[in-house]
Amino acid sequence: MRVTFLGTSGAVPTTQRNPSAVFVNREGDDMLFDCGEGTQRQMMHYGTGFSLEHIFITHTHGDHVLGLPGLLETWDFNDREQPVTIHAPIGTRSQIKRLVEVLGDPPAYPVCIDQVSAGDVVLERSAYEVRAVATDHRCAAVGYTIVEDDRKGRFDREKAEEELGVPPGPAYSRLHEGQPVELDDGRVIEPEQVVGPARPGRTVVYTGDTRPTDAVISASEDADLLIHDATFAEDRAERAQATGHSTAREAATVAREAGAKQLALTHLSTRYAGNPAIIGEEASDVLADVPSAAFVARDGQEIQVPYPDE
Ligand SMILES: [Zn+2]
Ligand SMILES: [Zn+2]
Repeated sequence: MRVTFLGTSGAVPTTQRNPSAVFVNREGDDMLFDCGEGTQRQMMHYGTGFSLEHIFITHTHGDHVLGLPGLLETWDFNDREQPVTIHAPIGTRSQIKRLVEVLGDPPAYPVCIDQVSAGDVVLERSAYEVRAVATDHRCAAVGYTIVEDDRKGRFDREKAEEELGVPPGPAYSRLHEGQPVELDDGRVIEPEQVVGPARPGRTVVYTGDTRPTDAVISASEDADLLIHDATFAEDRAERAQATGHSTAREAATVAREAGAKQLALTHLSTRYAGNPAIIGEEASDVLADVPSAAFVARDGQEIQVPYPDE
């Protein structure tokens, strides 16, 4: 699973940072989380590809959605036929619809608007799902989590072949799928003899703009990557509270309580554009004695999210 940060600035763009957008490619499935102004150009610049079918919007503040009209227009210009679904918090349908039809007519391809509430399974796929999680901002807002199913246990080929004498071939896949196999000599081999315990999948959480919330903490339990609002450093803690954002320290406290393995700090205020180091330092202080690492995300940065057992 590859995560590409396309926009890491809060509220307004800077020369170094675009407004919010995170692109995720999970074994060929593309997903875009938020779509700040200029996102389509960031997609070109950082080579994410354009074959999206699902866009997940955390809330309808301009810095998270103003890239939608341009992206939808480009697809129309390129004769897109494939539908696209825009998932957004409940109560925002009319705002999203206005963005879709900003110049009058909607695009020629189908654009579906799916309103979501915290707790919903927003997208269900064979090996993972995307869920909406409650956040706390100044408007209707949700975060999103990508949660993978458990994976099959490891198949012990050596034991199967050498110790138990199972001939290589279809019997191996049957055992790996959890079915017993009868050998020519009458012995029955049970899957547990050659297949290890199921291995956990990965969890990635993207909060969008938010104060720290219990819901995000529980959704981020043992998460492999938590991408959290870190608009301010501690010198603007009151401002973070007043504007429905988090400080780097607050984001790190969420990661710490959740046991998240990696914390990506994003949505930085322009105040820190020249010196983002303070954001990373304040978060790292909180995580100094736990096995969790924080970094300040930058535009174009790519993360390969490892499996928990890797
Ligand atoms: Zn924002
Ligand atoms: Zn906002």
